[in-house]
Amino acid sequence: MKTCQKLGQLILVIFLAGITAQLALAQQQNSAKNATRDRYASRAPAAGGIHEDIAPKFTKRYQEWKEEFLSTDIGKAQWDMYSHHPYLQLTITVGGKNAEGAGTGKYKWNDKGELIAATIVLGERIHEGYPSAVYYPVMNALEPFESRNLIAGTTLAATKIAHEFGHVMKISSTPQDLYHLQVQLVPIYNKIFLSNGYNVNDPRLVDLAKKMGGNPVEIWEDREYWGEANAMLFLKDRVEKEKYHCRLFAKIKRAVEEYAKDYEARFAEIAKEQGAIYTCGWR
Ligand SMILES: [Zn+2]
Repeated sequence: MKTCQKLGQLILVIFLAGITAQLALAQQQNSAKNATRDRYASRAPAAGGIHEDIAPKFTKRYQEWKEEFLSTDIGKAQWDMYSHHPYLQLTITVGGKNAEGAGTGKYKWNDKGELIAATIVLGERIHEGYPSAVYYPVMNALEPFESRNLIAGTTLAATKIAHEFGHVMKISSTPQDLYHLQVQLVPIYNKIFLSNGYNVNDPRLVDLAKKMGGNPVEIWEDREYWGEANAMLFLKDRVEKEKYHCRLFAKIKRAVEEYAKDYEARFAEIAKEQGAIYTCGWR
């Protein structure tokens, strides 16, 4: 467990350092890009940036969700980083089958192994619907606060956007080969698992899990908890001045302790990030 916690902390440091490094790199390369652009004004713009592909019928609600996300320093910093990114094109769209959920995918890498494309699909009603506390301890914690009119649906929507940005950030630091290996091996693992009487100790499954860095559930929950970690970073900024912020963070803490004990370190680090005054019971 200790090793696990240490590893969790290390990954968190890498994740947070990754955000900072990505921000710095984007800023640096952007100023270089602008300088080049000024000199060669007729050149085609670089491929990086945020491409918003929103149907007119969703524009109004999308702008409200986006404004809420941008109302925080962390949301603004992450948005700026991707809108000025030198090579990653992040497409954001509204629609899809999952009206109250969202998803991130369509990843592409260049020859240097850098992530150059990702797409976030936001459901048309992400301002409604709370996912389960088991895998979504942060988004789920908002529910009682909305029913008491302390938060609005737009805050829930912006938290879901932050969760998806967390996926993009994590995938940017995931080796392309590992991601493709997981995509390739997860269906093979599941096929064996369903045909061997659900025996996870089957040597074939142990071997596959070793190759891809965990079994499919572990890989999936790790990804979702990175999304939730970024959702928590956003909420920390969003509610820090609200009277109920400690109640909200205590609720997140209880869910993490109950369902995500092995991942507690990454949430605790975020809770502690701004100093003891905001820890609200996190140690
Ligand atoms: Zn997710």
